[in-house]
Amino acid sequence: MAEIELEHVTKRFADGTVAVDDFDVRIADGEFIILVGPSGCGKSTTLNMIAGLEDISDGELRIDGVRMNDKAPRDRDIAMVFQSYALYPHMTVRENIAFPLKLAKLDRKAIDEKVEHAAGLLDLTPYLDRKPGALSGGQRQRVAMGRAIVRSPKAFLMDEPLSNLDAKLRVQMRTSISRLQKSLGTTTVYVTHDQTEAMTLGDRIVLMRAGLIQQVGPPQELYDHPRNLFVAGFIGSPA
Ligand code: ADP
Ligand code: MG
Repeated sequence: MAEIELEHVTKRFADGTVAVDDFDVRIADGEFIILVGPSGCGKSTTLNMIAGLEDISDGELRIDGVRMNDKAPRDRDIAMVFQSYALYPHMTVRENIAFPLKLAKLDRKAIDEKVEHAAGLLDLTPYLDRKPGALSGGQRQRVAMGRAIVRSPKAFLMDEPLSNLDAKLRVQMRTSISRLQKSLGTTTVYVTHDQTEAMTLGDRIVLMRAGLIQQVGPPQELYDHPRNLFVAGFIGSPA
């Protein structure tokens, strides 16, 4: 469980691009927050700074009150799920999910228990002995999530995890992600450019445009009280 605070966080790339400009949001312990906005608005860069995959140019990132700016990704205890599944094709579902636990040198029994628990939560129990090549896209994405949840990280970061799936599967996966997040209660930052996903999935939305936060709040609040025309247009509210 984790509280994630971004205080006046800015990312300036070497070429001068300011991808994220003064991002200032406190994400509560257990919250499911959505970063949404058009392509290029700085969503992935924000997520990558939280994960430690990009340096922070200015401002401070704290997890549970501890400054993280200079901590390596592995010391942040955060799991990231990308849109590309990055499963190991030669390993079974069981071995794929178990992989982070093997790295952490857990014993065989503990690994089996955790893998089976994660598989149960993700409806993957019947597929544990299959290889990724014999799974559907949605099942593969659930294996990737299994690998993220199996070591009980403090937080999940997801970067457009459903964008490779067809529309029908996306709707199904939305439901399973939402259910999973609620049952685990793990702080989650979820990136999407899809308004519907943003409106249905999270506790709060952070809507960005060109590196700048436009509005932060529960979906209903952005819909009922958009702060500007961009928010109104993006959310599709009648304002
Ligand atoms: P999003 O995920 O919302 O589509 P990104 O965070 O990937 O947006 O990118 C935000 C902005 O930063 C874009 O203008 C992008 O071109 C720029 N950008 C991303 N990575 C780099 C980089 N390594 N060097 C320079 N500019 C970058
Ligand atoms: Mg992106």
